[in-house]
Amino acid sequence: MDYQSRREKLRILLKKTGAQALLVTGRANVTYLTGFTGDSSYLLVTPDGKAPGGQVLISDGRFVIQIAEECPKLETYIRRPDATVQQAAIKVIRSSGISSLAIEADSMNVATRDRMAEKLPKVAIGHTSGMIEHLRQIKDKEEIALIREAVRIAERSFAVIRASLRPEQTEIAIGDALEHQIRLFGGEGPSFPPIVAVGDRAALPHANLTNKRVEQANTILIDWGANYHIYKSDLTRVLVTGKISPKLRRIYELVLAAQTTAIAAIRPGVAVCEVDAAARKVVAEAGFARRFNHGLGHGLGLEIHEAPLMKGTSTATLKPGMVVTVEPGIYLTGWGGVRIEDDVLVTRTGHEVLSSLPKQLEEMIVY
Ligand code: ZN
Ligand code: ZN
Repeated sequence: MDYQSRREKLRILLKKTGAQALLVTGRANVTYLTGFTGDSSYLLVTPDGKAPGGQVLISDGRFVIQIAEECPKLETYIRRPDATVQQAAIKVIRSSGISSLAIEADSMNVATRDRMAEKLPKVAIGHTSGMIEHLRQIKDKEEIALIREAVRIAERSFAVIRASLRPEQTEIAIGDALEHQIRLFGGEGPSFPPIVAVGDRAALPHANLTNKRVEQANTILIDWGANYHIYKSDLTRVLVTGKISPKLRRIYELVLAAQTTAIAAIRPGVAVCEVDAAARKVVAEAGFARRFNHGLGHGLGLEIHEAPLMKGTSTATLKPGMVVTVEPGIYLTGWGGVRIEDDVLVTRTGHEVLSSLPKQLEEMIVY
């Protein structure tokens, strides 16, 4: 990964703000700019890259070996065991002699900001929002390769779960088995706690796991993903374990049509809100507009939900290198829900669907 060039790109953005330095506190942002994957660490970046603290990783003794492995060339400040990371940052900022500092408003809380301002009376503190997240939207080749692998691991894990599904299994057991398979296939673990929703529980888009058994209904909605070198995948499929009612067929075909219509609309230059609208139109024409009660999807990468968020109010435009989920759903209280989710890369000429699990209704029948 070319961390240096990422920091260069950030410096160009930072210069426009007029701040003499940016204190990067968002964990994924620190990782993105340095390769360091530990927590409790900040990165101080100045626009000219000079001065002590041109770019300094502020960390602690637990991470010395990890830093040597992950970002050996980076200047670091290791705080004393009795100092907090904020106190260490204050020290580094003071010694750098800067008079204006930007903080990341999306990750630093108000109390911490106020404490820092109090200890740094000579430093004007402003803030940025979404600046590094904006850079992170466009994935480079290495990042795309890691996401591809995260998708592959998720798909293999799902294939095992599907092939070994039994009527007496509970949502909790299936979720656990899925996490286990992700690790067996080389992932670090799930990219988020899997959602396994049997029957009517799928009416809750973010259902928590219960002891409900597969045999207690005709469908299971599974929403899961893998972590691979911190990069994420995120997929959803609905498996059929009983009879396909006319209602299930109708809802399923509708969601699938909405999803494929939205995916077909993905290419560079298209507004995100248009892609969302394409899916929503299909659902609305069938009279289910209010049952599709969440955004169409989200960017994914170092975090499971990142920019660009795929929703109607978005002002973002698709660009090559973005990786987004497309996951329309219809939820009917007391009946259940259908959501179908794939991960899509925006290419120079259009898009590539990174995930390849079957999704036609007949292909979802388990037994
Ligand atoms: Zn998902
Ligand atoms: Zn998702």
